[in-house]
Amino acid sequence: MKKINFLEKIIKKDLELGFPIKKLLFRFPPEPNGYLHIGHAKSIYLNFKLAKKYKTSVILRFDDTNPIEEEKKFIDSIKIDICWLGFKWKKETYASNYFYKLYYFAKHIIKNGKAYVDDQKKQKIQEQRKNPFEDGIDSPYRNRSIKENLFLFKKMKNGFFYDGDCVLRAKIDMKSPNMNLRDPIMYRIIKKKLHYRTNNKWCIYPTYDWTHGQSDYIENISHSLCSFEFENHKPLYNWYLNNIKKKKLIPKQYEFSRLNLNYNLLSKRKLQILVKKNIVNGWDDPRMPTISGLRRRGYTPESINNFIKNIGISKRNNNIDISLLEFSIRKHLNKISSRVMVVFNPILIIIENYPSDKVEWLNAENNPEEIKKTYRKIPFSKYIYIENNDFMEKNKKNFLRLSLGKEVRLKNAYILKANNVYRNLDGNIKRIYCTYDKNSLSKTGTSSKRKIKSTLHWVSKKFFIKIRINIYKNLFIEKNPDILKNKKFINNDSFKTKIAYAEPSLRTATIKNKFQFQRIGYFCLDKTSNKKNLIFNKTINIK
Ligand code: ATP
Ligand code: MG
Ligand code: MG
Repeated sequence: MKKINFLEKIIKKDLELGFPIKKLLFRFPPEPNGYLHIGHAKSIYLNFKLAKKYKTSVILRFDDTNPIEEEKKFIDSIKIDICWLGFKWKKETYASNYFYKLYYFAKHIIKNGKAYVDDQKKQKIQEQRKNPFEDGIDSPYRNRSIKENLFLFKKMKNGFFYDGDCVLRAKIDMKSPNMNLRDPIMYRIIKKKLHYRTNNKWCIYPTYDWTHGQSDYIENISHSLCSFEFENHKPLYNWYLNNIKKKKLIPKQYEFSRLNLNYNLLSKRKLQILVKKNIVNGWDDPRMPTISGLRRRGYTPESINNFIKNIGISKRNNNIDISLLEFSIRKHLNKISSRVMVVFNPILIIIENYPSDKVEWLNAENNPEEIKKTYRKIPFSKYIYIENNDFMEKNKKNFLRLSLGKEVRLKNAYILKANNVYRNLDGNIKRIYCTYDKNSLSKTGTSSKRKIKSTLHWVSKKFFIKIRINIYKNLFIEKNPDILKNKKFINNDSFKTKIAYAEPSLRTATIKNKFQFQRIGYFCLDKTSNKKNLIFNKTINIK
């Protein structure tokens, strides 16, 4: 039997206890304050797979209650990324659509004597709440009359006050060991920036905690799944729901472990700092753990979903090694990518017994993993390039590649033997004189079956094209770079670019194609590439 995760167990139990299966409903609630990252991929995968299993759906809810960092462009990117990952939401909703409802719920709570307007500054309030080893200190405004609170709350809403003048707080328990229950803030005044959707309609904004459960309730969400940082918020989530008018199903919050990837940051707020400080080139910089960054780097949706599936859902903290993600993309790219030959550090080969005006267009297999094989043509000629480090003048033990007097196979072509070198004045080898075995053409030549230990990639001097290669490394040198302010964690060596010589078939590459540069790694076209300037990103090396 297939193993089920703990969330599936919870749902199974709820169903056994009589919860109607038809009422199961999930949501994915990003705040539009940045691009989605691979941590979100986990939450997305989890919710959408549960919905699929129980034949229900997922609501995409934008949790947009803080105008300061929220923008329309983030809405668009979030939708693009979820689609790209292969999931389809049933309905798109906005917490900001519920501002009126939340306002009325809040008035209801005030009327029940369970919320009050506090004129203290935010910092003062935090001081009074914050010390977990002592009871909190009551605000001097805690016992305002209901009438006064209703009056002041209305004034707050109508714009009589400035940012920070006052807040609305729930009246719960200033002595609670759970800080979240110490009279949390429900509304604050924000006028300094208009909301990207509601514009100037509102100047009071509900906090995350005050919004989330009520939005779940309004949308009839049955199981509200969030990451563990919200575990301590659950009593507050439930308190709010118990204090609004209840007519129907009360949603339940359950937590699962947040995904952490070493050498990476997975939080929009923190990633935003990298973007703002120009440490990276935007949200989709191929070094970013964002969905758009991974896409630009050459990751496929399949590889990301498979990775998420393999790490599983747990209650424990989830520190995952980046090599697991790399394993997943390598596996997928091995299956789908076209093999091509690109020489990174060229050295010239002259094939002395090959006619100088002759060109052969040889057949090259695109992908040995393909069931129905396809081929492309590659040009072979007297002058070719191989990698500098594939040649060693004097043969050393264990060096199986080209050296004087030894033979190698040229991929898709002939067996080659090195005879001589020509040096520059500075003593460096400039070119290598070789001969080829004309009967050794791969797969067809009469001596093609001769056993040769090593196969090298190469390009023709007459036909190669120059391409630019972008090579990336981890953005951080620290495994858990949680304190972003500390700049010393940043890897200053995370980006390199160089020119390489490629076989001419790459001229027709499109952004959708995936390539294996044989013996080097996996690459894809970058979005800044054009016909004149082909630019490739390195996704990952070959193991
Ligand atoms: P911020 O740093 O601004 O809080 P975030 O990266 O935490 O951003 P949210 O918009 O708060 O993203 O999260 C949206 C949903 O995705 C939430 O349900 C949250 O629990 C989930 N989520 C966010 N990060 C992760 C993660 N690393 N692993 C699993 N789930 C995550
Ligand atoms: Mg957030
Ligand atoms: Mg968050």
